[in-house]
Amino acid sequence: MKTQSVVSLFSTLLIALFQLNCAPLTPEDQGRRVLQEAAEAMGGLQALEAIETITRKGTRTRNSLGQGHVTTDRLLMGSPGPYTQMIDFDGPREVNLTGPREAIQLADWNKGGYRDVFGSALRPLEATQLQRYRIEWDRDIAKFLVHALGIETSIKGISEAAVDGKPHHIVSLQFIDAVYYDVYVDDTTHLISKLQFTEDRNPYGDLAKERTFSDYRDVGNVKLPFSEITQEMNEVTEIKEWAELTINGDLPEDRFVIPEGLQERAQSLAHSDRLPVIPTELAKGVYFGEGVGMNNMWVEFEDFILVAEGPNNEVQSLAVIRQIRETVGDKPIRYLVTTHHHSDHTGGIRTYAAEGATIITHANNEEVIREILTLPHSLKPDRLFESQIEPQIETVTDRKTITDGTRTVELIHVPNPHANGFLAIYLPKERLIFESDLFQIQSDTFQILPEQSGPARVPPEAIDFYNAVTKARFKVNRIVPGHGRVLEWKELVDAVNRTR
Ligand SMILES: [Zn+2]
Repeated sequence: MKTQSVVSLFSTLLIALFQLNCAPLTPEDQGRRVLQEAAEAMGGLQALEAIETITRKGTRTRNSLGQGHVTTDRLLMGSPGPYTQMIDFDGPREVNLTGPREAIQLADWNKGGYRDVFGSALRPLEATQLQRYRIEWDRDIAKFLVHALGIETSIKGISEAAVDGKPHHIVSLQFIDAVYYDVYVDDTTHLISKLQFTEDRNPYGDLAKERTFSDYRDVGNVKLPFSEITQEMNEVTEIKEWAELTINGDLPEDRFVIPEGLQERAQSLAHSDRLPVIPTELAKGVYFGEGVGMNNMWVEFEDFILVAEGPNNEVQSLAVIRQIRETVGDKPIRYLVTTHHHSDHTGGIRTYAAEGATIITHANNEEVIREILTLPHSLKPDRLFESQIEPQIETVTDRKTITDGTRTVELIHVPNPHANGFLAIYLPKERLIFESDLFQIQSDTFQILPEQSGPARVPPEAIDFYNAVTKARFKVNRIVPGHGRVLEWKELVDAVNRTR
């Protein structure tokens, strides 16, 4: 045989052998192989499985989505500060210490959790907050591959793309919690450089998210990234840069203890599908609805009900609607007035739209409010998504009066630095005014207050609020707040006088 034919026969044989070997590889198998390689690159699946605790110390920057001072800014930009994350995957439980003051947030899947709110209160975590931790524990890059290669995950397929000029395999998979992931694995290092996924994020619904990992270093017998950057709606919302990582070290048990006065409240909220809202009658047919961290107000008219503020989420809105039915009966909720565009204060408005209520907002916020009311919520369908009701929006520029002859509500624009397009809700006869985030003093109904809380902080927006009310010649006895307790008008006057 001539050399050429030998070579040719040999290569034919090789190709046949190669095909024999590869032919049965379905996209799913190929995806699994890429994930297995990624696990190997990180120290092996066994080593990753053996991670019980992880402590990360470094800095974090958080830019809050939907909390910008003006509606054209999606983010309230934060600045880098010290941050410690301690996770016990077996608990599962986690402690975060934020800032130079080490403000604590504890999430314990079995006992519930709590957080330090700007040093002015210790507040129990709500079930939805605890659920977010659970999702992040499974998504933690130290554990992600353990779940991705587990029997509860289905691998959908594989594709290729370049990220920053580097070739990558992209494995598409679905976790048991129904979240779809595109896992970007670097073709050279075999390390995960990016996770892309869509998940429900109140109030925006199906939200595209992306987390990039870089600066992998050896930590014991595994390799972990020292940099994690998260993007939501194409905006950078979190940057974590770690200086120190420890696995399987002892955790400071004292940090994982819920303060005594909070244990029962934390436990009762931990896995409840309901939230407590306590109604207080402020005047005939006017109620303050106090929730764990956020409040609202409802006003009974002759033929309908007006609700001031739809905060937090659908769980809270449903609790409020139950209280409305108990306190004022079955009249339709015709109006939901939202004070400003921030996501914590608009997180519950969709439920009212599903009830047929018209959402009233300042004209400045129309686009943001329309977005919240119309973005798809298919991953975690809420009442509005299921009802297919066309949401109604009404805008106010300077002032608006809603009256039926017996009851009158005045809406007034309050320009202030906290949020543009702000409406306060005034009841002239009852001498009440509802506002959110302009002036507040914490309440002790659901939380523990520090012993010396001192006089209320007077932010510039409190002074703007005072000036707007005075200029409009409104007669106010009490302020009904979106956070904290009901205030006497005099408390604001005293606070403003202190600054003079
Ligand atoms: Zn706000």
